[in-house]
Amino acid sequence: MSFPLLSLVHILSLYLAMCQSSSKGPQATIDHDTSTLINRKTPVSDSLPGVSPYTTQYNLSYIMGHFDPASHPDFVLIDTIHADRSGLYLHKDTYSAFRMMYKAAHNDGIQLQIRSATRNFIAQKNIWEGKWTGETLIENGQNASIAYPDPVQRATMILKYSSMPGSSRHHWGTDIDLNAFDNTWFESGNGLQLYQWLSQNASRFGFCQPYCAKGKNRPYGYEEERWHWSYMPLSQQLSQMAADSLKDSMIAGFMGSEVASQLNIVERYVLGINVECEKVPFDKLRVRK
Ligand SMILES: [Zn+2]
Repeated sequence: MSFPLLSLVHILSLYLAMCQSSSKGPQATIDHDTSTLINRKTPVSDSLPGVSPYTTQYNLSYIMGHFDPASHPDFVLIDTIHADRSGLYLHKDTYSAFRMMYKAAHNDGIQLQIRSATRNFIAQKNIWEGKWTGETLIENGQNASIAYPDPVQRATMILKYSSMPGSSRHHWGTDIDLNAFDNTWFESGNGLQLYQWLSQNASRFGFCQPYCAKGKNRPYGYEEERWHWSYMPLSQQLSQMAADSLKDSMIAGFMGSEVASQLNIVERYVLGINVECEKVPFDKLRVRK
């Protein structure tokens, strides 16, 4: 793309972002052709079956979790048949795909259960600061505020499994935690069966495990999370927006945020995901309206 056109896109993006901030309800609806904010090559509705045209703008404020899923027009409440409790929300397209995956798994004798779904900035701040202050113990029963007085070390320890507010994929309405927050549960019995089923089938429904085992292909970021799955047709685009526009300096507004830049949060944690997830064959998705 030539420089003048790129500039035009940026100006248009800023203009649309300003429009969105002052829009409410149906007025916020945009034609997906104008959704250059996400900088994608083709409109979602044309390229990805099952993904609706956007009804609201998706901007930095959205990807940083500054909204209430309960009142967001693109979010739906998860039925308790699919979750361990009421009050959980997902983007409607994620939930639509999940329901199909749930049914297919159920037919194969696998019982998927959502344990966590959308968490906005405030919810993530509660989780993060609970661990930061020691009110919530981190792994091995440690009180992080005592065991790690140095803020960089403390944040690094919490970041093994928890995101800084503003940088979590759980803000996006695209990511879910399934069945058990314990990698060892997925190593035997029902857990292993479930994990093998997901590994073989989740991509058919657009889901992928972003936090795979650390190694050459994923040297940085969170530890492996076998319970965390992402709906790639949406999250890939939000991830691209984060790559384009989210900066460590924007990660702020909570205890310990001052070390975000030192820890390269955007590059290592937001973008440090399983490279295989980029290869989910969207054109072969069995997700239809
Ligand atoms: Zn998760």
